[in-house]
Amino acid sequence: MKLTNRSHGAAPTRIAKHHRRLNGAALLAGIGLGVVLGASSYVAFELLGTVSGAFNALSVLTSMIGTYLCLMLLVLVSRIPAIERSFGHDRMVILHRTLAPYSLFLIGAHVIFSTVGYALGHNINVVQQFVDFNLQYPWMLPATVGFGLMVMAGVASYRRVRSKMKYETWWTTHLYFYVAVAISFGHQIEGGRVFLNNPWLKPIWISVYALVAATIFVGRIALPLAFSLRHRLRVAAVVEENKDVVSIYITGRKLDKLKARGGQFFQWRFMVRDWWWQAHPYSLSAAPHDEWLRITVKSLGDQSSALSKRLKPGTRVVAEGPYGIFTEDRRYTDEVVAFAAGIGITPIRAMLEELPLASRATVIYRALDATQAPLMQEMKELGEQRGWNVHCLFGPPADHPLTLEHIEKFAPRIGESDIYICGPGGFTVGVQKLAEAAGVPEFRVHHEAFAF
Ligand SMILES: Cc1cc2nc3c(=O)[nH]c(=O)nc-3n(C[C@H](O)[C@H](O)[C@H](O)COP(=O)(O)OP(=O)(O)OC[C@H]3O[C@@H](n4cnc5c(N)ncnc54)[C@H](O)[C@@H]3O)c2cc1C
Repeated sequence: MKLTNRSHGAAPTRIAKHHRRLNGAALLAGIGLGVVLGASSYVAFELLGTVSGAFNALSVLTSMIGTYLCLMLLVLVSRIPAIERSFGHDRMVILHRTLAPYSLFLIGAHVIFSTVGYALGHNINVVQQFVDFNLQYPWMLPATVGFGLMVMAGVASYRRVRSKMKYETWWTTHLYFYVAVAISFGHQIEGGRVFLNNPWLKPIWISVYALVAATIFVGRIALPLAFSLRHRLRVAAVVEENKDVVSIYITGRKLDKLKARGGQFFQWRFMVRDWWWQAHPYSLSAAPHDEWLRITVKSLGDQSSALSKRLKPGTRVVAEGPYGIFTEDRRYTDEVVAFAAGIGITPIRAMLEELPLASRATVIYRALDATQAPLMQEMKELGEQRGWNVHCLFGPPADHPLTLEHIEKFAPRIGESDIYICGPGGFTVGVQKLAEAAGVPEFRVHHEAFAF
């Protein structure tokens, strides 16, 4: 297939616009937290006076703030493309991961405080109180099960545990988190002191839940379904790039209407036996074309190694996206220095393809040798056509240290450029340090990680 893309033209985003969105979102989240804190503090304050009341007050505060954070966690991974485009999928996932333990600890604290508070109030031991809660209080048993599921998802996400699990196992435990939130809803609405004391808050809280549920439904079900029906994607060709890497060309209807950019990725679901339920993130490896999209995949695990065998022309594909902000319109300057390592070339090649003609680019492509550098020839040809400097730096890391002294030989204007990086974690950190040494401000350093 001929690699020419449709043109998007230049549109460098302005720092102020991005910051306005960030500030707007932070303000909205802050107002929500303020309202929750205000309403629960009011109720908590009224409970103070006895030891049992103090525990119940803490229980109210921890439950409301923990649940609010929990709902935020769900919004962060709801995958609404407009939100993702504003903040970046990886940043939303990182924030989700950072907030998640706090939510879990707060809800755990709520379980402890409420059990102790009620036990003291009823003059019974905590075990008896816990049993009573579950047997005698409406919606309490589902809430306890929900809490158990939350703990399970939390433990499974702990780095050391997760690294020992198959991705799919971890993903399934995470699905239970949604079930947990849903089945805990009843006990909060029916038994929560905040709502018993302030019935007018109930419809507001129910609306917040409904809004979060709608966001998840739209982002994770309705939009992907609509996308699939609209574009009806299918595999057009599977092309071997080298022994470990294949490119998959995907065709469909109305691809000219697809609002994807080079540098973005989709979650791809290939509709073959056993795979339909798992979606894998792969970046576009060429800027979107009116008639096809392309991804380029390196064999790294179960699915990526089997793509060339299992995908055939005509295989149906369901995609979710586009996601990510690794696009050329996030630049602040007209000069780009792009650093790719191995398969990290995919979003870089696609992003650069959309760079306006007036902009300059230098590409530093690192790999052990040419066999580990997919799309190298294509990258060189594109560089020649566009007058970019493409440097393929092969050999062990010691041959090409990521020092300013070494890299300035290839990119002398690095300090005045926007930096784009895609490669393994260590490589990304190395280039980030290099950019700092070159005096490039953080907002001009853009990176895409191939792991969430
Ligand atoms: C934003 C992004 C863009 C990517 N773009 C490319 C690309 O252009 N080319 C390319 O070759 N690779 C890309 N990857 C990596 C690719 O998604 C994984 O290599 C692939 O999903 C591995 O699946 P597997 O079943 O072969 O491996 P497994 O053995 O199942 O998993 C290997 C590792 O891959 C990750 N992984 C597996 N499944 C998923 C999933 N569904 N979602 C997220 N991570 C998962 C996990 O960290 C896991 O530990 C990208 C990843 C991300 C996050």
